[in-house]
Amino acid sequence: MSIQPILVQTADGKQPLADGIIYGHEHLWLDLSTPRDPEGKLDQYDLIVDEIRELKTLGVAAIIEQTCLGMGRDIQKLRAMQLATGVQIIPSTGYYYHTFHPRTIQHASVEQIMQTIAHELTDGADDLSVYPMVLGEIGGSGPPLHHDEINVFRAVSRLANDYPVVVTTHAHLGGGGRDELELLLEHGMSPERILIGHQDLYADLAEVLDLARRGSYIGFDTIGKIKYAPDERRVSSIQTFIEEGLAHRLILSCDISRNAYLRQRGGQGYAYLLQTFVPMLEQAGIAPSIIQQLLIENPRRFLSASAN
Ligand SMILES: [Zn+2]
Repeated sequence: MSIQPILVQTADGKQPLADGIIYGHEHLWLDLSTPRDPEGKLDQYDLIVDEIRELKTLGVAAIIEQTCLGMGRDIQKLRAMQLATGVQIIPSTGYYYHTFHPRTIQHASVEQIMQTIAHELTDGADDLSVYPMVLGEIGGSGPPLHHDEINVFRAVSRLANDYPVVVTTHAHLGGGGRDELELLLEHGMSPERILIGHQDLYADLAEVLDLARRGSYIGFDTIGKIKYAPDERRVSSIQTFIEEGLAHRLILSCDISRNAYLRQRGGQGYAYLLQTFVPMLEQAGIAPSIIQQLLIENPRRFLSASAN
């Protein structure tokens, strides 16, 4: 009956993972703004804290926060949000896709990339005593992947042999997931430590099911981004996962990544997953026990694989 305690690295240090729902791929603070996209940021602290507080009342225990190096990560901010809301925030390190690679890793060798990430894992991220357990969202813009991205994936694959981490990816509009998984598996990492992201955006469901059959977790993590894919398709894909006996591989989230997605700014908001999408799953006849598996058990099992 009682669940094994799992220790997680939060923005406020190492803690036992609280019981409850876990969002698998979110951002709570980021800056991906560019001259072409000046609004590509998430920095409305009070609005974000209000939404996380609401999530807490809806049963959310933890959020895997996937903002990494080059994305405007700010672990001090994440810590303040965790202390203000009581929701555990699990920060990340690594590199996003090549458009957002810091200059320091452009054309860097695999070994140099390993060093910069290892520094965070060993000495703490943002010079705080926070040692990320998530390497993510490791970005790919493929297929084909950019050569610098391939080097980052290789570096992550090797680091996973030496550190208690899980790995999460950004597959651009769902594409390139198979290449990402192949690279990550090159040095013998168990696929249960890998979450291939944004697969709800990928049109070829057979290929996504294949990634799950190979043992990796699959992110249906852009729920509510209906401009990219209708939620009805997400529901029917989840039904196929269940029919194929692969529901234990799915992890859900919304990937809120700019202020415009906040509810006060007219967006869907973080609670969309629980308040709008879960009722769609229920209406489609998906059993409460399966919904619980998707929201609670799968991300918990994924995080517990960090030590493998
Ligand atoms: Zn993301």
